[in-house]
Amino acid sequence: MSGKYLSGKVQSVLAVISPEDLGVTLSHEHLIVDLKQTYYQEPELMSDMAFTRQPISLETLNWVRHHPLSSWDNLLLDDEKLAIEEAMLFRLEGGGTIVDCSNRNLKRDPRALARISRATGLNIIMGSGYYVWQSHGPEMDTKTEEEILQEFVQDITEGVRDTGIRAGIIGELGTSSPLHPNELKVLRAGARAQQITGAAITIHAPRHEADPLKVVEILSDAGADPQHIIMGDIDRTLLTHERRCELAQTGCYLQYDHFGQLDYYIMPEIDMPNDRYRVSEIIQLIKEGYLSQILLCHDICWKTMVCRYGGHGYAHVLKYVVPIMKMKGVTEEQIHTLLIENPKRVLTGV
Ligand SMILES: [Zn+2]
Repeated sequence: MSGKYLSGKVQSVLAVISPEDLGVTLSHEHLIVDLKQTYYQEPELMSDMAFTRQPISLETLNWVRHHPLSSWDNLLLDDEKLAIEEAMLFRLEGGGTIVDCSNRNLKRDPRALARISRATGLNIIMGSGYYVWQSHGPEMDTKTEEEILQEFVQDITEGVRDTGIRAGIIGELGTSSPLHPNELKVLRAGARAQQITGAAITIHAPRHEADPLKVVEILSDAGADPQHIIMGDIDRTLLTHERRCELAQTGCYLQYDHFGQLDYYIMPEIDMPNDRYRVSEIIQLIKEGYLSQILLCHDICWKTMVCRYGGHGYAHVLKYVVPIMKMKGVTEEQIHTLLIENPKRVLTGV
């Protein structure tokens, strides 16, 4: 065993815990998050403008579903009581752990996550990272790789600011196509932070299908272990089996994190698979021998994705995807590997 800070351990917002205590784990979600600064889009038409500042209601829901990035209210998950109620739905279905990937520029709130963890009994693992370049503050241009590295290490080994609440994963690190110079700096700092802390790295994937592979190469060149890298957004990025296998050959994890979503509104030209196609793709990957590199979750990050606002919610994989997997012949043992063993392996410090 190496002497890194998290070697052999998992760190939640409340404590260092045994990997055996994670249970069914959602490896990429957001309980508290603000995406307005990064994604808000002003509509072109005056008839749409009227909806942008309205709270979500049954009257506005259909419009918001079709313009999720133009609803001010939609892009904000700031209600702790709502987060508890929604996370509890996952707990009641047998869930054990949620990884909250909100980070420095997405209004990450360590104390709120600790309270949600106590209220629900779920383990919550908090991220430390920087999202895509649009979310970075103006200071990022002059910040050095070394300074970013120190921030990540401090979040994990000492805690965020004065809270004493520690991050347990590096990310989500935002990447774009093409990669922005500041994103490159963040990736290299993340790889070096893994060498010090042992924490896994989780990536918000670049949108061009050739680029996730390049991101894994950049991280590996900077010293990261591919077997502790999670590449997210597989279901909107790698649209062919060949591309998915090419990435899997690096040894990294392929995270299907859009379960429950039918369309990819940020790039409407993409034909995102529905849940049944996602499961069929996963079965193809299992046949190729990649069972131990696949993760399943929802990346819930705005209001219309949670149940109170008509969405699918954090329990969707357990309630509605597991039956699809069973129907298509995925065995109980393979489901156990996907939902429990894979997240446990990657979240345990290297
Ligand atoms: Zn995310």
